[in-house]
Amino acid sequence: MSVIVLVEHDGGVIKKKNLEAVQYAAGIAQKTGETATAVVLGTIGAAEMENLGQYGAQKVLHVDDARLNDLHAPAYARALLAAVQKEGSKLIVTLNDINGRAVAPRVAVQLNAGVVAGALIYPDLENGFVIKKSVFSGKAFANVNITSDVKVIMLMPNTFPLNKVDGKAVVEKLAVNFEEKVFNVKVKEVNKVTGEIALADAGLVVSGGRGMKGPENWGLIEDLAKELGAATACSRPVADAHWRPHHEHVGQTGGAIRPDLYIAIGISGAIQHLAGVNGSKTIVVINNDPEAPFFKAANYGVVGNAMDILPSLTAAVKKFHQHK
Ligand SMILES: Cc1cc2nc3c(=O)[nH]c(=O)nc-3n(C[C@H](O)[C@H](O)[C@H](O)COP(=O)(O)OP(=O)(O)OC[C@H]3O[C@@H](n4cnc5c(N)ncnc54)[C@H](O)[C@@H]3O)c2cc1C
Repeated sequence: MSVIVLVEHDGGVIKKKNLEAVQYAAGIAQKTGETATAVVLGTIGAAEMENLGQYGAQKVLHVDDARLNDLHAPAYARALLAAVQKEGSKLIVTLNDINGRAVAPRVAVQLNAGVVAGALIYPDLENGFVIKKSVFSGKAFANVNITSDVKVIMLMPNTFPLNKVDGKAVVEKLAVNFEEKVFNVKVKEVNKVTGEIALADAGLVVSGGRGMKGPENWGLIEDLAKELGAATACSRPVADAHWRPHHEHVGQTGGAIRPDLYIAIGISGAIQHLAGVNGSKTIVVINNDPEAPFFKAANYGVVGNAMDILPSLTAAVKKFHQHK
């Protein structure tokens, strides 16, 4: 049997978070004595799929249908179900991202499967099938046991570092007959944010709040981000005031991110903001108020005026890079 993992791509390029899902599925397969089979949809080159072997997939089932280049959740679910049937699988892995949240429940309901959304660790098989997941916007954890025969796990992106191994997956075509109704929501246009590091996938994020005083000071944030190779983000009032575009707003009502490093500058640390960033591996807070709540969630804190600290910090990073 095989653990099935849904692997999405962006115009033929598989992103880090999807490689992480493959590695996770392969890790579980190793524990259960199974193999890992990736399901890849739409137009993509063979080499990109074969490379999934470097993250533990033995096989790729490729549903080569250009209609799947855009997300059609019912069609994606249909393709996954076809793969599950072909492999006789009892475990399906997706990401707990926007697309995963649209597809995984559709698959689970068809298979009477228990679902865990937001898995943070490998399942503990010695005590059933127990998985730790994040709850209440990342403010708490729950250990849940999936007791159904067929199981669906939605992995929280950016939870595990990637470890490449030698390997090449075998790519097979999977023919799926789609009813026309699974494509009845058409994507008319996609406007991508270009020329920046995508926030959702960024390992490093520099973020500014109302303490930055106005959009005219954002050059300080951008300079540091550029020097670090980081994406930029902001608090909600900053986006509401149109200092920054809304796609940069993180928190309960914005994006949820889990970078390796989150630098919060002039952000108070309200719970609604923390809800979107408290999965970050390391948090650095720069704030001129030593009582700012964000310091309680920080690994490192700098008390001081951002307008003074940012130029010095950017210069220090630049110097560090020059002497590397
Ligand atoms: C239902 C709901 C949903 C919400 N969702 C979100 C969300 O998704 N994301 C979000 O961010 N917020 C959200 N909010 C708003 C949230 O409650 C806070 O109001 C908001 O996060 C505060 O933004 P801020 O920290 O940038 O601004 P402020 O609270 O004004 O904090 C500014 C900080 O900058 C510091 N500062 C000032 N000057 C300087 C300086 N020169 N140098 C260094 N530091 C300085 C201050 O000490 C202060 O801590 C939501 C609120 C509600 C009610």
